[in-house]
Amino acid sequence: EVHARLTGVTRIYGAGTSGTKLHALGPVDLTLERGEFFSVVGPSGCGKSTLLDVLAGLAVPTDGTVEFEGKAIRGVPDGVGVVFQEDASFAWLTVRDNVAFGLRRAGVDAAEIARRVDYAIGFMGLRDFANAYPSQLSGGMRQRVCIARTLVLQPRLILLDEPFGALDQQTRLLMGDELLRLWRETGATVLLITHALDEAAMLSDRVGVMSARPGVFIDFVATGWPRE
Ligand code: ADP
Ligand code: ADP
Repeated sequence: EVHARLTGVTRIYGAGTSGTKLHALGPVDLTLERGEFFSVVGPSGCGKSTLLDVLAGLAVPTDGTVEFEGKAIRGVPDGVGVVFQEDASFAWLTVRDNVAFGLRRAGVDAAEIARRVDYAIGFMGLRDFANAYPSQLSGGMRQRVCIARTLVLQPRLILLDEPFGALDQQTRLLMGDELLRLWRETGATVLLITHALDEAAMLSDRVGVMSARPGVFIDFVATGWPRE
């Protein structure tokens, strides 16, 4: 079952101005099956983040169409969660309030917020740090907070842009396992951008390889992991 589909998607920066144009992406065709774990690898600057931004509704394609659950994407679609490399947590909020932030903004009722925040904090192993501030945590723990913030929104498609890029190797491996656990638990479709080929091969069902700029997919590789 098709969960998301990009057809002939390009992104040209500066398209609307008389200045320099930069062809950053495509034309890209990509189909994500519901529930698959898909990784994107490719050289720096080939358009991986641009691809993710288009899927997340954070960037408008210059050409082509983007569908999520059978509908054209306009703005940030409901059901899509994004995790970035940079530590995107709010320094002035505790872990608990960081995780609750999106739900409060969405007007979810207090009991439901408490229930979902407790679950996400427990799932990501943050219970002992619920009342701490991000600055009191290690980089790996802060990235757990960012994942928990996405998890509470119950996304059906999770997009991660180099989420472990700033972590040391040991923490990166640990977080990879955490991501697999999250994927299995939620049944969500996952798109992971990484520059680490080993990470892509170890975690995903399928790896999309992009060429240098302007990025297009030059190959799709099935990893052959048995999935029960
Ligand atoms: P437009 O709406 O005119 O197409 P864009 O949003 O595509 O404008 O880009 C505006 C400008 O911002 C770009 O032309 C570029 O000069 C600058 N810019 C912003 N982020 C970057 C980046 N990561 N790399 C290069 N230039 C950037
Ligand atoms: P990757 O994630 O693979 O490193 P990006 O999608 O970030 O690649 O960038 C693709 C190309 O588009 C790069 O050349 C980058 O400098 C350029 N770019 C990214 N954002 C902007 C922007 N806002 N304005 C102009 N150019 C940009």
